[in-house]
Amino acid sequence: SGGQRQRVMIAMALACRPQLLVADEPTTALDVMVQAQVLRLIGGLVAEQGIALLMISHDLGVLAGTCDTLAVMYAGRIVEEGPARAVHEAARHPYGRALSAAFPRIGDPASRRAPQGLPGDPPDPAALPTGCAFHPRCPVAVAACTTEDQVLVAAGEAHRAACLHLSAPEGSTP
Ligand code: SF4
Repeated sequence: SGGQRQRVMIAMALACRPQLLVADEPTTALDVMVQAQVLRLIGGLVAEQGIALLMISHDLGVLAGTCDTLAVMYAGRIVEEGPARAVHEAARHPYGRALSAAFPRIGDPASRRAPQGLPGDPPDPAALPTGCAFHPRCPVAVAACTTEDQVLVAAGEAHRAACLHLSAPEGSTP
């Protein structure tokens, strides 16, 4: 089964006694029960053996439940980073908010029937938009977003995001 293959892969990786485990979409295509088992297995081994874990996934829920820190990337750059639960539940960057909203919420049937999405597609890495690369898809973009590049700024305790609204005067944040 997919779950057994995942466990064998994890065992092979850990047999080399690594200091860092890079898990790229380790639970993709697994049903939720096996996904939970694999995540428990990884979490337990990482804690027991003191291994650092770098997990790569599109599933913010899985990341928030497994990792201490979460970084959101868009167009090849980190646009938000911070404590995993804060980034998942209270994202400050519009892309982070869109990712969170794309997942159905337990106990909210409406979110299952009509998950929210984003217009358009990710940009071509060889021809990134000017300014903030997210501006063609951003629901709160303003004119300056097409010309001003953004860097990570404080967005809460140990939480940073790259959006001009975070450095705009108080009261103007959408
Ligand atoms: S800088 Fe502008 S385009 Fe980029 S995320 Fe913020 S509001 Fe959206």
